[in-house]
Amino acid sequence: MVTVAGNVVSPYTSSEIWKRKYDNKTFKFNMHDSEGPEGKARYLVRTGGLKNEYLGVCLDEIRWGSQTTVMYEKSTLGMIDYILEWIKLNQGNLLWHEKQVPVNFTLPYIKHDLCPRNEKHEEVFRDIGGRVKCAHREIKRFKPSYLTSYDFFDDLSQTKRTEFFEQSPQEELLFDEDDIKAHGKKRIRELELKHEQELLEYEKEEATEEVLDVCGAILSDVGTILPLEELLNRLNLQKTGPRVYCAKNGYVLESFYTDIRRSKCKIDKQEPWEPEPFIDECQGHDLPPHETVHDFDGYYLAWMVQKWYEQVPEGKSPVYRSKPEEIARIKELSKAKHLNQISPRLLGAF
Ligand SMILES: [Zn+2]
Repeated sequence: MVTVAGNVVSPYTSSEIWKRKYDNKTFKFNMHDSEGPEGKARYLVRTGGLKNEYLGVCLDEIRWGSQTTVMYEKSTLGMIDYILEWIKLNQGNLLWHEKQVPVNFTLPYIKHDLCPRNEKHEEVFRDIGGRVKCAHREIKRFKPSYLTSYDFFDDLSQTKRTEFFEQSPQEELLFDEDDIKAHGKKRIRELELKHEQELLEYEKEEATEEVLDVCGAILSDVGTILPLEELLNRLNLQKTGPRVYCAKNGYVLESFYTDIRRSKCKIDKQEPWEPEPFIDECQGHDLPPHETVHDFDGYYLAWMVQKWYEQVPEGKSPVYRSKPEEIARIKELSKAKHLNQISPRLLGAF
């Protein structure tokens, strides 16, 4: 029995937990077992069952397990809520694990000897957050009339990046017998001539538009302070959730049904003889992972969370990496029971 700040607490060790689970069917860690680990997690949170227990036990009791991996039916944000609930209930008496954190145990920092984007990149700099980044810069030239770009979140630099490319005319137009029957030889010939002209114009134009491309990939963030969200994202072996596609009615579709996707995709592919300009179809959006998968158990995860917590004194280690509006967006996304309730706006697509 341990006395901390006047409170008498008696956290169960893992072997005691096993014994109590075996002896007593109404023991709190046996309750709602039939609903799976998530049902048990909800029960423990609802009844204050996380109080005076090791975090390792509280985590290990709410996971599925296979021979090589364990899985929590929780997204990173769900894991954060559960861990924060445990911290709140055990304030002043944080018992992470019945064993001390092993010496040399470290958080999963990024550590590369060479730039992970291109090993030939040489120069580096240290940003204001203390991260070592690749300083490689390159000026790329494009033909201005064909220059186009898209933004994406770049994992290597952990920032939004813009990718530039040229949308050049198709190399070849291919028509089959059916096309000729449907549109007539004359119309097809017109299209071929128009296409040849487009190709000529493309080849004639000089690449005068200069775009500065800065690599910015992170080589090392050893010694920086990791938010809990970042830690959990890094540890999660499940990197993405389902892939979805914008649909005509302003909602999204799952990727598994490729036929539906083709027929209902919002941005339909145009045939070359159609008057509208060529628009490519939706490339899809990955939802955040719904589950958390590790190749270690809940006790080991508790050590990780302890290391995160102890980065800054007085429990001031940052919880979230994302901005509040981004957290709100992801929470709203995860509330949708069916994919067809998700609007492209929530995906950040428009
Ligand atoms: Zn680089």
